Amino acid sequence: MANPLILDGKKIAAELQEELKTRVAHLVAKTGSIPILATILVGNDPASVTYVRMKGNACKRVGMESLKLELPESSTTGQVLAKIQELNKNKDVHGILLQHPVPEQVDEQLCFNSIALEKDVDGVNTTSFGRMAMGQKAYFSATPLAILTILKYYNIPLQGKDAVVVGRSPILGKPVAMMLLNENATVTICHSKTQNLPDVVKRADIVVGAVGKPEFIKADWIKKGAVVIDAGYNPGNVGDTDLEAIQHVASAYTPVPGGVGPMTIISLMRQTVEAAERFYTIE
Ligand code: NAP
Repeated sequence: MANPLILDGKKIAAELQEELKTRVAHLVAKTGSIPILATILVGNDPASVTYVRMKGNACKRVGMESLKLELPESSTTGQVLAKIQELNKNKDVHGILLQHPVPEQVDEQLCFNSIALEKDVDGVNTTSFGRMAMGQKAYFSATPLAILTILKYYNIPLQGKDAVVVGRSPILGKPVAMMLLNENATVTICHSKTQNLPDVVKRADIVVGAVGKPEFIKADWIKKGAVVIDAGYNPGNVGDTDLEAIQHVASAYTPVPGGVGPMTIISLMRQTVEAAERFYTIE
């Protein structure tokens, strides 16, 4: 395919960042308060440490503050829940992010579900998911929101299109599939037990790679002219699709890095600003 469209997440994120700066400045001028995103890091997984730092830096760039809480690797579910309850009650905190994954002895979903809905700016609470799936007002899981924002920014048609999502994790595969369904795409969700995966992917007008395996989705699985969204972020800045080869088949694709990644962080910022605006009822 000659000159596929590069779905430039970095560019959209830069535009959204300017918009958020204005909204935050407006909010600060009106209320005298700076919106705060609280981040909870349990343990010291290097990738998680980096993600939390990047989210803190993103807060600064739009004029918000982050409150960084660090809990030891040995933390229990009860200790994480207690911290979340404290933050739920703290009127200065507008959004709460519990960095995924937590150490295995911690019940992650129970912790996610204890985040107050109005502060669940990363859209991880089961009720947020249910509301989103039913088309009701909710904060969306950040990476799926990033993906939909990219598709809409570039006016990629979704209605009636065949979308294949490879991966069904609670934070990525499942919610992005629901969001595509709500846009009237015909959605297939694949996972590790899916049979004839290349043939299923080959049907897709839109492919979302959310597998967590470097360059797992191959160019010869892609229908000519399909749109490829690569949500993967593996060591060495490699996505979940073989983009080097896929760019010769796809009509459009998200690069790695510079596609879904920067949009995920800005999506979290957008929802935090929205939570703060709602708190002060400035809409
Ligand atoms: P995850 O929780 O490990 O889920 C991976 C999914 O892929 C599972 O549903 C799994 O199926 C499926 N899978 C694994 N092997 C497969 C195979 N051989 N064939 C078909 N499906 C297979 O991962 P995740 O948290 O969703 O993350 C996925 C990717 O997105 C990773 O590369 C991660 O780094 C990236 N990510 C990026 C961002 C960002 O901001 N850009 C944010 C979050 C995640 P089963 O359910 O059957 O096990």
